Amino acid sequence: MTSNKFSLRLAAGAAAFGAIAGICAASAAVPATPTVTALVGATVVGVDGGPALQNATVLITGERISQIGAADSTPIPSGAKVIAMTGKWLIPGLMNTHVHLGLKLPGAAGDSLATETDPEEALRMAGNARLSLLSGVTTLRLVGEDHGTDFALRKAIDGGEVIGPRIKTAGEVIIPTGGHGSMEADGPYGFAHAVREQIKSGADWIKIAISGGISDTHGSISAAPMTDEEMATLIEVAHRNGVRVTAHNGSNEAARQALRFGIDGFEHGYHLDATVLKDMKAKGVWLVPTIVVTQPGALEFYHKIGSPPWYLERVKITGADHWAMLQNAIRLGVKIALGTDQFPFEPNDGTTATVAEAEAYVKAGMTPLQALQSATTQAAKMLQMDADAGSITVGKYADIVALNADPIKDIRALRTIDFVMKGGVVARDDRRDIGAF
Ligand SMILES: [Zn+2]
Repeated sequence: MTSNKFSLRLAAGAAAFGAIAGICAASAAVPATPTVTALVGATVVGVDGGPALQNATVLITGERISQIGAADSTPIPSGAKVIAMTGKWLIPGLMNTHVHLGLKLPGAAGDSLATETDPEEALRMAGNARLSLLSGVTTLRLVGEDHGTDFALRKAIDGGEVIGPRIKTAGEVIIPTGGHGSMEADGPYGFAHAVREQIKSGADWIKIAISGGISDTHGSISAAPMTDEEMATLIEVAHRNGVRVTAHNGSNEAARQALRFGIDGFEHGYHLDATVLKDMKAKGVWLVPTIVVTQPGALEFYHKIGSPPWYLERVKITGADHWAMLQNAIRLGVKIALGTDQFPFEPNDGTTATVAEAEAYVKAGMTPLQALQSATTQAAKMLQMDADAGSITVGKYADIVALNADPIKDIRALRTIDFVMKGGVVARDDRRDIGAF
């Protein structure tokens, strides 16, 4: 038994005991003393661009960071759980902002899931959530799941019943009838209703598909099938509810239309041209590139899931444009948050999809620090979580990943993740055989 599982069980047991005690005598409740954990001896990487703090002590009280300082001037409270981190670099837990934990793609693997029920899918997603966390991703945004499975999973993770990252989710993808997604709507009232339904169910984001996708057998990636009225109403209704809207989009025409009506982000952006990218920069619109899906590192994955030849051909054709778009976006300073459209832990180019995505950003023109920020501080801003996550800062969640090399010198250091903490609980520590991945 790992200490992680053990502490989760203890927590669950304590909660059950508390509930029983509450029935017997409400006044008998004893306030729990939060556990203090000290991570000692590591270098804390300055993800905000500031200097690194060497030989640091990071104190964690309960689920949040309570103190950070030099080891020789930061006393460790008696009774604290001390974890030696000498020789390691600490970064905030990674954020992957374009994920489908229930992903099904064309091909043999997708076909075998054709009769999957919602309960089966929810459990498969829970397994994928656990692997995502163990791979170093402590927060993810889901951008299209089926029938409320994502809301159920988020609740189970928040309740401590399932091990996984923090989840923000867009529920189902809203589309014009015949589009790339699952929740069809037509006309401004139809789109208003669809948005309200999603928000009522618990969506943190609204995801729409305003052009076709690589995995579609119908519809063109370059088309813009929504009317102005539909687009304007959808975005207005979401914003009136304080919810942001992101769009699956590969079309310049659809992008210009969405930008006119105040869209907050674009996913993929396969074919977006410099005019659109400049407008995105001017308006502060986010780009989540998911570059790994069209690059050679993903071929291993596509072969594994039995992707049909037409799909591989579409990936190849899209890949060159996608790469040029990413280079342009980086050069123009468009705000970028990391997302993969593959499982965060999916093997890709000898590492995980999340790490391969960050490495690709560096190849396409980012500094290693910028690539790291796209998965931490920038992603946290996009998800409006920056008060609570995205950096190793006093007061924020203790979502911390350890590396064996300095990612600011070489982003490939992310390949050495061997320790993952979420909310002060160690999910993985390879040295202690916890959550080995
Ligand atoms: Zn996607």
